[in-house]
Amino acid sequence: MVDPRTLEPSYPTHSQFYADWQERPKPAPAPEPDPDALADVIADEPIPIADSDIDLPTAGTEAARERLASFRDAGLRRYADTRDDLAAAVERPLEAVSRLSPYLAAGAIGIREVWETVTNVRDAVDGDERRNVDKYAFELTWRELYYHLLAHTPDLATANYKQFPDEIAWRTDDADFRAWKRGETGYPLVDAGMRQLERDGYIHNRPRQVVASFLTKHLLLDWRRGAAHFRERLVDHDPAVNPGNWQWVASTGTDSVDVRIFDPVAQAAKYDDTGAFVREYVPELADVPAEAIVEWPTLPADRQAELAPDYPAPIVDRTAAYERAQRVFERALGKRNDG
Ligand SMILES: Cc1cc2nc3c(=O)[nH]c(=O)nc-3n(C[C@H](O)[C@H](O)[C@H](O)COP(=O)(O)OP(=O)(O)OC[C@H]3O[C@@H](n4cnc5c(N)ncnc54)[C@H](O)[C@@H]3O)c2cc1C
Repeated sequence: MVDPRTLEPSYPTHSQFYADWQERPKPAPAPEPDPDALADVIADEPIPIADSDIDLPTAGTEAARERLASFRDAGLRRYADTRDDLAAAVERPLEAVSRLSPYLAAGAIGIREVWETVTNVRDAVDGDERRNVDKYAFELTWRELYYHLLAHTPDLATANYKQFPDEIAWRTDDADFRAWKRGETGYPLVDAGMRQLERDGYIHNRPRQVVASFLTKHLLLDWRRGAAHFRERLVDHDPAVNPGNWQWVASTGTDSVDVRIFDPVAQAAKYDDTGAFVREYVPELADVPAEAIVEWPTLPADRQAELAPDYPAPIVDRTAAYERAQRVFERALGKRNDG
């Protein structure tokens, strides 16, 4: 039987980590320190104003606590039902998900405080509300996993977590990388996600997964390039959670199915079927009907030109890119040798 106080230094899957983690005691938030016991290092200068076009969240612990309390009251009990709803993310961005990540990443609020708030609600509700709150608590455990992995695997941001018998034959195409960064790939959900990053310094988790998959699979560009770009742009950049997630999406990290590929068309059909999220960030597609936005990469070129002449054509063929990723990963895994 696993000693409940023991966590392994490495975990191949989140579910194995989760099983051990559940057995661990969860400490309450540490008490506020006695101000007299602290060194007197308060500086007189004001907090510098960031030179950025991004509408940054209000900084500080007070703002973090307000964000947590507001989400606890307005969103937490419906979280599982709204977390992947991209229309809700546009219409009610501070209720559909918590937007706590910048505060957690910056240490403006501690995970123990968040955990205590969430579990207090969880213990007070049942039925459908309980299912929703449980999901939020579960998502926090992904963060715990990546912190745990980084503590034991300091090169999490620079080396594949999973061993491959052969090198992954990443492409090095700079033009494709630039198109991805600018949100000009011709894949509407990918472009909307990348433009959200540019405009807001944040990407909703669903398109975050889709843009990362598109880079590492459809474009076959090294996950480290994408992670480095996120590090520069994200207001919630986190040195454990960013590389952990990039590796998960790239199939080089935990929970590695051989080749994890998010199909950007199927993802749009499932999570943004009205096109609300795409229209919010991609003005070239503002007047295009929802079905055409969803199916965009598969529409004939003349139809695309007629509907949105200013929007870029897809930079890769959806099926050919999918099959190329399959081949390259299967070779790296030693499952085919036709290279
Ligand atoms: C490629 C990629 C890179 C990412 N990089 C970061 C990053 O640098 N910083 C960051 O905080 N999150 C990162 N995430 C995870 C996730 O996208 C964000 O935590 C989430 O979108 C933040 O919004 P929120 O606070 O409203 O999340 P909510 O849905 O409200 O979730 C609440 C909290 O749970 C935690 N959480 C949720 N999903 C994840 C996850 N997949 N992994 C780890 N923790 C999670 C976060 O602390 C989050 O703030 C990344 C995901 C991907 C796919």
